[in-house]
Amino acid sequence: MPVEIPFRRDFSFEYGRLEPVAPMIRRIVARNPSPFTFRGTGTYVVGNGEVAVIDPGPDLAEHVGALLAGLAAERVTHILITHTHRDHSPAARAVQAATGAPTYGFGPHAGGKRSDPAVEEGGDWDFVPDVTLHDGDFIGGRAWRCETVHTPGHTSNHLCFALADSGVLFSGDHVMGWSTSVVAPPDGDMAAYLASLQKLLGRRDVVYWPTHGPAITEPQDHVRAFIAHRREREAGILECLRAGIGRIEAIVERLYVGLQPGLHRAAGRSVHAHLIDLAARGIVDSDGPPTLDTDYRIVRD
Ligand SMILES: [Zn+2]
Repeated sequence: MPVEIPFRRDFSFEYGRLEPVAPMIRRIVARNPSPFTFRGTGTYVVGNGEVAVIDPGPDLAEHVGALLAGLAAERVTHILITHTHRDHSPAARAVQAATGAPTYGFGPHAGGKRSDPAVEEGGDWDFVPDVTLHDGDFIGGRAWRCETVHTPGHTSNHLCFALADSGVLFSGDHVMGWSTSVVAPPDGDMAAYLASLQKLLGRRDVVYWPTHGPAITEPQDHVRAFIAHRREREAGILECLRAGIGRIEAIVERLYVGLQPGLHRAAGRSVHAHLIDLAARGIVDSDGPPTLDTDYRIVRD
C-alpha cells in the first residue's frame, strides 16, 4: 500500500490583505503562485503593536506595500527568516528600509554556487542576517517569545520558529500541508531532512503554520507520513537499481508516474538527494562522484 499523505489544500485568503488567522498571528499572502509556492508566500506577523514579521517574502512592491500599510500604526521590531530562498527573504531589505528592524536568520545562503541552475525559487544570495540564530535560541518582543528550531534539509540554513506558550510552530518550507518539500542537492540534504523531521516528532507543537498553504492541525501524523513517504521512495529507488535502472532520469520516469513535466527536474533532484544519502551509507555506488548525471548501482543490499 503506498503511503497516503494527508495533504491540506483548503486555503482561504485574499491577496494583499493582512488578516488575523489565530490569536497573536496575522498573515498576508504574496501574489507569487507557482508549482513550488502553492498560492504564494504567506508572510506572518506575530504580536500586536510591537511585532515580528516572519518571511517578508519575494521582493514584490505590491506585497511589501500591503504588508507595511497593514502595520502602519505598529512597530516592527524583528524580521525573522526561515531560509534564504527567493520567495522568502528578499523583501527583508524593503521591510528593513521602512522600519529599521534587524533581520534574524541562521546565516547566508550556502551549499552551492550562485551559478547553479535554480530549483524551486532559487537562492537569495544577497541576504545576510543582522543577528545569527542557533538551534535553541530564544528571541522575543514585549508580548511574544519564539524558540529557534534548526531544521536543515530543504536548505542547510532552514529554521522553524516555535511561538512560546501557544503550541504554534512556524514550519517554513520544512513541513507544509499542501505538498512535500523540495530536497535538492547540493544545499538540500536528504539525511538532514529526515533527521529534522524526526526532531519535530520529539516536540509537542500542536499546530504548524507553514509559509505556503494552510495550517496543519495534526502535525505529528503529517510528519510521520512524510518520513514514511521518503522511506517508500528510497525503497523504490533501490528496486530500480536492482532492475538495472541506474540513471536518475530513468528512475524518475519509473517512479513518478503522471508527474507534470515542469516538475521533472525537481523530482530528479529529489532522487539525487536519496542517492547521495544511499552512497554515504555505503549502499549504492556510482561511476565517479554521485552527480545528477552518472550511473548508480547497488553494492550492499
Ligand atoms: Zn524554500
